[in-house]
Amino acid sequence: MNAKEKFWEKYANRTPELLDLMSTMEPNSYVAITDIETGITWWSKQARELFNYEECVHYSAMRPNLRLHPDDAADYRQNWQDRMEGKHLGETFEYRILFNDVYMLFSTKNDILTDENGKPLALISIIHNLGVPNDVDMITGLPNDLAFTRDINEAVNKNRQVTVLKVGIAKFSNINIMYGAKYANTVLFEVGHRLAQLACGQGKVYRLTGSKFGLIFPSLDRKQLAVLYNRIQDYFSNQFVVEKENVPLRLSGGAMILDHYFGDAIAIKSRLTYAINHSKHAHHGELVIFNDEICGLGNDQLELISIIHQSAVSGFDGFYLCYQPITSAKTQKISGMEALLRWRKEPFGVVPPGIFIEWLEEDPCIYGLGNWIMRQAIYDACKIQKYQQDFFVNVNVSVGQIERKEFRQSVLDILEETGFPPNQLCIELTERCRELDVEFLRQEVIFFRSHGIRIAMDDFGTGSASLQLALELPVDELKIDMSFIKDIQNKPTNQAMVKSIVDFGRSSHLDICIEGVEDQSVLDYISQYGATWYQGYFFSKPVIFEDFEDLIEKQYLEEFQAAQKEPELQ
Ligand code: C2E
Ligand code: CA
Ligand code: CA
Repeated sequence: MNAKEKFWEKYANRTPELLDLMSTMEPNSYVAITDIETGITWWSKQARELFNYEECVHYSAMRPNLRLHPDDAADYRQNWQDRMEGKHLGETFEYRILFNDVYMLFSTKNDILTDENGKPLALISIIHNLGVPNDVDMITGLPNDLAFTRDINEAVNKNRQVTVLKVGIAKFSNINIMYGAKYANTVLFEVGHRLAQLACGQGKVYRLTGSKFGLIFPSLDRKQLAVLYNRIQDYFSNQFVVEKENVPLRLSGGAMILDHYFGDAIAIKSRLTYAINHSKHAHHGELVIFNDEICGLGNDQLELISIIHQSAVSGFDGFYLCYQPITSAKTQKISGMEALLRWRKEPFGVVPPGIFIEWLEEDPCIYGLGNWIMRQAIYDACKIQKYQQDFFVNVNVSVGQIERKEFRQSVLDILEETGFPPNQLCIELTERCRELDVEFLRQEVIFFRSHGIRIAMDDFGTGSASLQLALELPVDELKIDMSFIKDIQNKPTNQAMVKSIVDFGRSSHLDICIEGVEDQSVLDYISQYGATWYQGYFFSKPVIFEDFEDLIEKQYLEEFQAAQKEPELQ
């Protein structure tokens, strides 16, 4: 008789007992019986189907081809051994198994079957499939953003001092493009697990959205944090190998030491994002510790930002739009307006976007706020149309809007709802939109233009808004940043720059708007270039809608009177 036949014989007379056991099982549960003496294991039918086992008994007590999550493997083996020795039987233990590239969560509880003398005969395992946990990232098997938020909240609520680090990979989309999504996922997996190793078990690692990771440490001071971050940066830029391929990664890092009250997880996460973005844009990827970076801001300003953030997530109370005329260079008449956001509340007074937009743009609330701005601006533009049918409105759009797939439809919905002509709406892509993958951005630009909506590249000439990008993105308009215009009469480099942008625009059939026209002398000087539109304090500062309507009404009356006079002139 072979080992398997012996197994059957041994358990044959226990069948009623086992049937009783199985009849009490919940759905998504599986059973396995392991003979303690030989380790031979019998798997129930559902378990065989799930784990793809052809045979119902296996020689090994450990499951064959089990793709356990690396972080759970050691624990799993220990648990198995303990239970075979009769320890911790009633307790459940959880572990993750990879199925079709997705980690699923399982729990196991055990019982011991004894022989007639009370001697342990078999280990009964009741395995429960808990499915894909919603707080675990499917690609890396690490806890995800949800778990990160929950753990930060827990630390705050329990007043625990923790240090939070956020690490991002620069230009990760390049890996996706060059090596494909499968390899990119492997890279993400490896990054997560190397981070855990580099943190030497001190910190818990989370995969956040995209190519961002979070780490929470029970305690880590500035110096330790800096040493750790340097180690991480050094490792990923020099030694990181995935599937025998050297993959040098550039990282950026933002951290916060929660040593006193810092608001809730949402506020903490938005500050971390602020820190990591500063690391990326202003510090070449060096670690930015929020606590140090914002010292200059002061508590009053932080409080103000958190109040404004609160309005942005709860009904937009206090937000309103101002409008600045966009004047035709040829006729010097107002042809359109740019919507500019403001916030006002006592005792703070009017707060310009320079104070808060950078913060809100790094928070998911910018999406809802952006839709609110778009709707309000288009509704107001509709009211101007009674004076001027071809009147247009420019609306600034930030990266947090463009990157959301629902954004396309929400713009179309607002246009449909208001009946405003799409070709009289111009979306201004602000500086940070250009961080997005060029190909992605190109598709968005193509989509909006295919619906007649115009696209302008804002602050052209600064940051990454180069001629090269203008060639790659089929936009309609370039807005020359006002830094080139201030005192242009006396600055030959600025003159050369503006001239080459306008020439480029003309040869590419793009409209050009020159911003920051502050006085008559600048206007006189720039008139040689042949731009399409001007914008600036010389024509008007941004004003509330009622005042803007007055400007338009005045212009309309002047035109009307001029038209009346015309016949007399002939
Ligand atoms: P921007 O889009 O380049 O807007 C032009 C800014 O220059 C406005 O500042 C405007 O008030 C100011 N400005 C206009 N003419 C002149 C001038 O002749 N001289 C000078 N010195 N300044 C002039 P504001 O309103 O403070 O806006 C600052 C920035 O905030 C905007 O720059 C834009 O990037 C962002 N922003 C404003 N409103 C929104 C919005 O609704 N959504 C988004 N995403 N960003 C916005
Ligand atoms: Ca703008
Ligand atoms: Ca601008």
